[in-house]
Amino acid sequence: MIQPRRPHGRTQSAQSAQSQSFFAAFAAFALIVVIAAAGLHAQASRTRAHVEALASPRFEGRLAGSDGERLASDYLVAELQKLGAKPLPGQQDLRLPFEFTAGTKDGGSTIGISLTNAAAGAEGRANSGRTPARALSFSDNGDVDAPVVFAGYGIVVPEGQGFGYDSYATLDVKDKIVLVLRYFPEDAEQKTRAILARYADLRYKAMAARQHGAKAMIVVAGPRSPNAGELVPMTFDTALAGSGIVAVSITGDDAKRMFAPTGKTLEDAQKALDDANPHAAGFALAGITAQVHAAVEREKRTGHNVVGYLPATVPVAGVAKPWVALGAHYDHLGHGEAGNTLAGKDDAGKIHFGADDNASGSAAVLGVAATLAKEPRRRNVIVGLWSGEELGLIGSAAFATKPPVPIDALAAYLNFDMVGRMQDNKLTVQATGTSPVWGRILEQANIAAGFDLAVQADPYQPTDVATFNLASVPSLGFFTGTHADYHKPSDTADKIDYEDLDRIVDFAAAIVRRIEDAAEAPAFTKVDQPVQSGGGRAGVRVYTGTIPDYSTEVKGLLLGGVVGGGPAEQAGLKKGDVIVEIAGQTIANIYDYTYALDVLKIGQPAKVVYMREGKKNETTLTPGARK
Ligand SMILES: [Zn+2]
Repeated sequence: MIQPRRPHGRTQSAQSAQSQSFFAAFAAFALIVVIAAAGLHAQASRTRAHVEALASPRFEGRLAGSDGERLASDYLVAELQKLGAKPLPGQQDLRLPFEFTAGTKDGGSTIGISLTNAAAGAEGRANSGRTPARALSFSDNGDVDAPVVFAGYGIVVPEGQGFGYDSYATLDVKDKIVLVLRYFPEDAEQKTRAILARYADLRYKAMAARQHGAKAMIVVAGPRSPNAGELVPMTFDTALAGSGIVAVSITGDDAKRMFAPTGKTLEDAQKALDDANPHAAGFALAGITAQVHAAVEREKRTGHNVVGYLPATVPVAGVAKPWVALGAHYDHLGHGEAGNTLAGKDDAGKIHFGADDNASGSAAVLGVAATLAKEPRRRNVIVGLWSGEELGLIGSAAFATKPPVPIDALAAYLNFDMVGRMQDNKLTVQATGTSPVWGRILEQANIAAGFDLAVQADPYQPTDVATFNLASVPSLGFFTGTHADYHKPSDTADKIDYEDLDRIVDFAAAIVRRIEDAAEAPAFTKVDQPVQSGGGRAGVRVYTGTIPDYSTEVKGLLLGGVVGGGPAEQAGLKKGDVIVEIAGQTIANIYDYTYALDVLKIGQPAKVVYMREGKKNETTLTPGARK
């Protein structure tokens, strides 16, 4: 990671003694004018100062575990103290640190191959010596010495997907090492490829191997696959520990050596599988045992949640669920070094200010808390500013796993993530399916607020509201929609709509008041999780070099840019183009596009239909292989 840099304060050169008093008088006058103007400003908005502070260069984009994040947490601690917030029961501090993994690297994984059959001769066991392997980022650390079973692509498609496929159907892999091919059958027809792609993610394959009793999984990119014979790069992974199985990738040469004594070849074995015939099976590599040494080094860092509470102003004895919680994540992407940036190539490495994402939500939480701090309260109000959200909801999850207050004593949780870019008076409220009371409370509170509410029942959102829903806390999430500056350095404080942000503060305060005042706490309703799509992004093998622009108003895939020298640039695509069709598939949104990527073939030209300045155009794009 890039070491965060701290800006140095500039020192003024000394004035000459003669002019000093005049300047002092003038400066004092100017200062009064400035203070008066700032005073008016502050009155106009209760959120602007917080957004401008959090999104300032001083905090360097607030990447969890960075110096910038720690400085931002100092700011938030000071703000909570001003409001009179107290540390949670049993805590000394408003700052609640948590440890997480900020990255992984290989610590010297190896593979050894031995023969146990007659080929080994009188010694009974011939050892080939160790060669380097590379651990998968989610691997357990450890050593496994066991016979090897080739399990094809190692894919298990769950029932109900319209296509049955189980690489383990005819194999006994209990206590064995499975050798699997990376990716999925290369020659399958489009529809089948799309299904298989969803279950080809290596994490998913490792889970299948573990469930079938295998002790370790070895992955090789087959000779007929993209990146043939190459080790799998380690990916960014924030898990604190391994996924319960030893998993490494090996080179094509090592895989060949495993196959050699069996009289079969990896290439033939792959060919037999590549039309995705569900009856083509793997087989034990007779007489072969492997010695897998997996070593993953996980870089630990410390992130900081900032959490306090405003105590109830009347005794809460006898009150059902005497706590209400407000929360927002304050961390962001730093300079984009964790890989989740959407910055174009000209902006790469710059500070991602995260004014909307999520200085806006943090400011809203401070704003609601400031309002509630001046009023009588019948329940304790938790004020939570989470870190590590951008790396996978790590901060809120750390809080909910070991909550200083019993989580079932929370009457409700209100989350604010990206609430500073309201358009046409539209406010999205998520997770309303988590309690039957939300419909009525929102309706009542909105009489004064007058938003055009877009209500979404689904609590499985990519933000901290998901954490509290999983803990069975009735929750709401506020959101004003995504935009072209999402996850880019251009998400800056000057683009925030402070007037509407303040209206959201008033609206949310009214909702908290209703929860606080009710004798009964809202009931929790469990919302069924939508069907998992399995593989996800890591399963995508093709590389197109497009940089999507997450704008809501466009039908199709709006390009925020293209990667220099990538397939999209070579196809003549550029920033501002809207892809509406690729390889015969209509693209209405980013999900359609992701789905379409599954069926593209590496090196095979695909027709792309796109809009440029209102005119329909066509080009041909040849996808490359993603590393
Ligand atoms: Zn974000």
